[in-house]
Amino acid sequence: MKKIIIIGGGIAGLSAGIYAQKAGLQSVVYEKHIISGGECTGWDRKGFHIDGCIHWLTGTKPGTKLYKLWEEVGALENIDIYQPESFGTIEYQGKTVTLWTDLDKLKKHLTEISPEDQEEIEKLIKYTKAYLNFEMPSDKPMDQMSLMEKIKLGMSMKDVAFVMNKLQKVTIAEYVTRFKSPIIREALKVGLMENYCAYTLPFTYATLASGNGGIPRGGSKAFALRMEEKYKSLGGEVNLGQEVKEIIIDNDTATGIILGDGAKVYGDYILPACDTNITFEKLLKGKYQDESFSHKYTNEETYPLFSGVYIALGIDGDLSSYTKDLVFETAQFPFEDKDINQISMKNYSYEPSFAPKGKSLVISYINANYKWWKEKRENLKEYNSEKSSLGNNIIEGIETRFPELKGKITLLDVATPLTFERYCGAYKGSYMSFGSTPKGDQKIHDGKIKGLKNLYMAGQWLMPPGGLPTALVTGKWAIQRICGK
Ligand SMILES: Cc1cc2nc3c(=O)[nH]c(=O)nc-3n(C[C@H](O)[C@H](O)[C@H](O)COP(=O)(O)OP(=O)(O)OC[C@H]3O[C@@H](n4cnc5c(N)ncnc54)[C@H](O)[C@@H]3O)c2cc1C
Repeated sequence: MKKIIIIGGGIAGLSAGIYAQKAGLQSVVYEKHIISGGECTGWDRKGFHIDGCIHWLTGTKPGTKLYKLWEEVGALENIDIYQPESFGTIEYQGKTVTLWTDLDKLKKHLTEISPEDQEEIEKLIKYTKAYLNFEMPSDKPMDQMSLMEKIKLGMSMKDVAFVMNKLQKVTIAEYVTRFKSPIIREALKVGLMENYCAYTLPFTYATLASGNGGIPRGGSKAFALRMEEKYKSLGGEVNLGQEVKEIIIDNDTATGIILGDGAKVYGDYILPACDTNITFEKLLKGKYQDESFSHKYTNEETYPLFSGVYIALGIDGDLSSYTKDLVFETAQFPFEDKDINQISMKNYSYEPSFAPKGKSLVISYINANYKWWKEKRENLKEYNSEKSSLGNNIIEGIETRFPELKGKITLLDVATPLTFERYCGAYKGSYMSFGSTPKGDQKIHDGKIKGLKNLYMAGQWLMPPGGLPTALVTGKWAIQRICGK
């Protein structure tokens, strides 16, 4: 029986392990952390559970291909899905916009707010509807498809092709200027990167509007641990707290790994499912490179990374009647090298297991600059002081917006890009893959490294812009490539 050594027990590694076991291969996962799941995780603080990942999960709609895969890997088997009513609510210059997931309601609402934007609003709804039945490719990797299968895939994308053509060369920041209303412009930018291709906006709305972007009950950590359970139930082996230091190469063939204690483990195939930068620079010691990755790593403007500061607050009070996702204005406060005056507040009351009875968890998120935090981290005292003063500014902003919460915020937990780097090895703290910008190439990487045999990569970095479905699918595809040899 062929043996596969999987490096990294995130969603991609667990997916690869599950499909390896299902294919009758022997597999073993080595994960450096003491828990599986990678970036799909959560942590406990003072009786609260801070969910560290899923804001929406593509593939929660029964009947879709991804849903079937999530079921196959045990992540969604018999799990209720929470379907948000909106993508978020934004308060701006005295007005409020809610981005309803019901598209007719959204159209009516936006048109009432800004009748002069009717034409653009209708176009946005039309673009969004074009994506309603869109499914990302998941059956087979392109390199294993026959010509007919490729044609079929192309045909299945015809509805979205016209939107891509229209919006691929436009950034979100540019696209929103087509709207006259300042609050609509502001609202459409929320939760997305302004330099991303504009088609990501209707794509994201469609995912939620179609019911395919719900949130599995129980949260991200439980989601990942169900996959670990599934993997083990199929005979897979997970070794936690075991960092792989190097991949053993013999005659341009990957033959094994070296662990932290120097132990060598050999296998027929090596499957790095960790961050690709770790694979190239650490595990392969820079000896093998890939042109497309090198190009992306050195062109951050075209291939931006996505990282942020995550400020979790435990509140002594029941916030179940409050808005789920709110962005509101505050007095200016310093953030990194600038001043900002907006706070996002995600209210997790929909998931009672995240807070003790009668209490609530909220998380505020701000896009962040990795380099700035890295420099601060050189002086731990300064870094911690930045974290706590940011946390206090967020608390003050929330207490000003909601005076009834004054003095009721009992937990503050701040994670920065360095937290994600430290715990998951996320490249520059980025928890998504390379961003999709108009100048960028968004091709899916085949996971192979030129000149190196018996090594197949998996993970979100192969399929920009990343996310859980890409981790799931690339893990499965790596095994299909091995089996298809
Ligand atoms: C705050 C946040 C919110 C997010 N929200 C969403 C969302 O709403 N929807 C969505 O789809 N996605 C979301 N994501 C992204 C999603 O979490 C990632 O796309 C996905 O988890 C990546 O999975 P992966 O397996 O490719 O990589 P990772 O999760 O990075 O897993 C890699 C694993 O490899 C391990 N590892 C690294 N180096 C080694 C080594 N040398 N030896 C052994 N093990 C090693 C790491 O510890 C890690 O466990 C979010 C992420 C974050 C952090």
